[in-house]
Amino acid sequence: MEILLLDDSPVISTLLQAQLKKMGHRVDAVENGQQGFHKATSRHYDLVLTDIVMPQWDGFKFIEAMKVVCPQCPIIVMSGSLEETDISSRLSMFSNVIGFLPKPIHPSRLKELIERVKRSVNINLKKMARIICTVGPASESPEILGQMILAGMDIARLNFSHGTYEEHEKRLNAVRQAEEKWSRPIAILMDLCGPKIRTGPMSNGAVSLVAGRKIIIQAEPIEGTDERFSTITPDILPDLRAGDPLLLDDGLLELIVEKEGQSEVLCKVVVGGTLKSSKGINLPATPLSLPSITAKDKQDLAWGQERSIDFVALSFVRSADDILQIKELINQGKRNLKVVAKIEKPEAVENIDKIIEVTDAVMIARGDMGVELPASTVPRVQREIIRRCWQANTPVITATQMLDSMTFNYRPTRAEVTDVSVAIREGTDAVMLSGESAVGVDPVNVVRTMSSIISEEEEHADPPKNHCEHLSSHQGFNPALLAAASQEGAAALMVIDLKGLIYTHLSKWNRSVPTLLVTNSLHVARHSSIYKNISPIIIRDNLTRDQIVLRAREEAKKLGYLIPGDVLAVLEGERNTQGGIPQLGAFQLMRVD
Ligand code: PEP
Repeated sequence: MEILLLDDSPVISTLLQAQLKKMGHRVDAVENGQQGFHKATSRHYDLVLTDIVMPQWDGFKFIEAMKVVCPQCPIIVMSGSLEETDISSRLSMFSNVIGFLPKPIHPSRLKELIERVKRSVNINLKKMARIICTVGPASESPEILGQMILAGMDIARLNFSHGTYEEHEKRLNAVRQAEEKWSRPIAILMDLCGPKIRTGPMSNGAVSLVAGRKIIIQAEPIEGTDERFSTITPDILPDLRAGDPLLLDDGLLELIVEKEGQSEVLCKVVVGGTLKSSKGINLPATPLSLPSITAKDKQDLAWGQERSIDFVALSFVRSADDILQIKELINQGKRNLKVVAKIEKPEAVENIDKIIEVTDAVMIARGDMGVELPASTVPRVQREIIRRCWQANTPVITATQMLDSMTFNYRPTRAEVTDVSVAIREGTDAVMLSGESAVGVDPVNVVRTMSSIISEEEEHADPPKNHCEHLSSHQGFNPALLAAASQEGAAALMVIDLKGLIYTHLSKWNRSVPTLLVTNSLHVARHSSIYKNISPIIIRDNLTRDQIVLRAREEAKKLGYLIPGDVLAVLEGERNTQGGIPQLGAFQLMRVD
């Protein structure tokens, strides 16, 4: 059996390791606390044997976290200081704890407990790619959000196409509470609704459209019938040209324009069906004169800039100019939000290079994209956008319907598992959950499932490509970064980057060792959560450069990224030495003691 032993007493640990090995088990041992949690969740163990008293972390918190992340992994708890009756009643709440051993450990009791362990099929949750979860009624409590963080959520998404400011505020506060409880910087992304075009109200909520029949769309609001209905965005009507298709309700119904008009447009029903109130209208072939940032978007953005929002996603982007416009609005506000360009319109696909040049991140919004473009083209467009973002070093999110069936089911379809794996293999930085985490039956299970698919794909991916050549082709590229990129033997790469200016270049290298971002800003740490394989360490004290490195190295040990004997690569950007000599960058290797 593979056993992980967590005890911060070297004497007890050595003794127990000898006993377990004598019984024929393979044993890994580290100190308990966060380091133990990191180890226990980064590979498969049949059993974890841990002391309940932990120097830097509460033992019950460890068991709670293990129950979320590896619910199948049995735990045997040891203690030399707590009374067996007290502790047994507290531990009975945790189904993952199979027994308690008072110290000193009696070998026959240990053997008897281990014999009860059934081999389980645990999954490993050590992932590099990021998970964005839409927060909704099923996931808005601090407890569920905390469990989602443990299971692998990196960014919480608030969808401004739905909900009131009160609801968003409540969810934002819940994310911040969960973030604090588990000490993991979590970014919040507000997703603006953009110029989403919708149908107006229908008589009794829905009407039936029959193929071949005529229908009028009008500017004046009315209760829709099978002869005419209105739209909440009447400004589109003058843009419609004869022959333009209109796709309703995610493309389930289709109309074609027969007669143009300023205030009403005559259409023919091409594909009929039931049309409900407030359903989306997509116009894949119509150049629209609507502004990309609506009055509602501006109001929502102003709301976000007053609160601890980190990213803003703009829907239905058409050109780079849309991104520049929102950046200008952001510059007028209080808070520096990073911009995510949602690519879902054919114009955006055509203008993708220019958009990538000016945006902070890209989202492949496959839901609307699959209506605006033939659905069969979505996989190819996804692959191409990921490739271009990789070349430009821009983070890219693959979104929508990734584990869609888990909105209702506890297991994904095999096709969904393959879809997530393919996106990871193609090099996406992040994958996104929508309804699955907002209204699904078990959001924590969905995040855990997503993490396990990512981990599996990353573990068996081809060896990391050598990206140095790619980087060195950039004129004036920092030589210290290049040195760090070519470094293979280190256990971790530490980037001293207080303002978050250089770490972004390291993310896409997809190294199998962690990149530790050392910053003094929670805001920078939260922004880093869209980048693959970046783990932030926040050091707020005003320390010298050398003190920062030593403190960060200790933190990294506590968190389980380093063990004594490891080689640590330390990288820094441009700086002046203590003697005032300007340096392009600094790269150093150090041994961890
Ligand atoms: C999408 O269309 O894929 C998407 C992410 O946008 P929304 O969820 O806002 O429709």
